[in-house]
Amino acid sequence: MSSTNFKILKNCLHCAKMFEAQKITTKYCSHKCNSANYKLNKRLEKRGEVVNVKPEQQIRTNTTAVQIALIKEKEYLTVREVASLLNCSVRSAYRYIESGNLNSLNLGQRITRVKRSEIEKLFEQPKSATILPEQKEFDFSEWYNIIEVQEKYKVSYTGLNSIIKRNKVPKVKKGVYVYVPKVLIDNLLS
Ligand SMILES: [Zn+2]
Repeated sequence: MSSTNFKILKNCLHCAKMFEAQKITTKYCSHKCNSANYKLNKRLEKRGEVVNVKPEQQIRTNTTAVQIALIKEKEYLTVREVASLLNCSVRSAYRYIESGNLNSLNLGQRITRVKRSEIEKLFEQPKSATILPEQKEFDFSEWYNIIEVQEKYKVSYTGLNSIIKRNKVPKVKKGVYVYVPKVLIDNLLS
C-alpha cells in the first residue's frame, strides 16, 4: 500500500479549516489559501509585523493568521482578542486586568475593552510596578483595595492606575483584590 492511500487530515495554516492533505508537508487547504497567506505575510513583513503562527498553536487557540491580522488592525480589543494576541487563556487575560497590570476600560458589566497600545506597555513596565509577593502578616487596615480608592476619591479605574504607575505606588495582590497603601494614596489624592 502506497502512502497516497492514507488520508492525512490537517488544519489549514491560513483558514484553520480541516482538510485532506496529499502530503504530510502540505500546509494549506487550497491554492487560494496558500497565496492569500503568502500575500498577508508579505504585507505584515513590510510593516515589521511578521505573524508566525505555528500549526499546533493554531489548533489550540483556534486563531487563524487572518484573525490575528484583523485583531492587529483594531484599536480596542475584547478580552478574548487580548488572549489571542498574547497567546494565553482568556482567564489569564482577565487576571492581568484584575491585577491592574493591564489597563482596561469598563463599558458595563461584561463589556471590557483594552486599548491595543496598553498591551505593548505590558512589555515595558518599570520593575517597581510589578506586584509584590504575598506576605504572611497583612494588615488590611493600612491598605485600600482599588475599588475602595475609586469610591472614596471618585477616580476612574484607568485614572487611578496611571496615578499608581506614575508615583510608583507599591501594589499587593490578596485574593481577587489589589491593595495599595492608605498613607500613600491619601497623600496623593486628598
Ligand atoms: Zn484554507
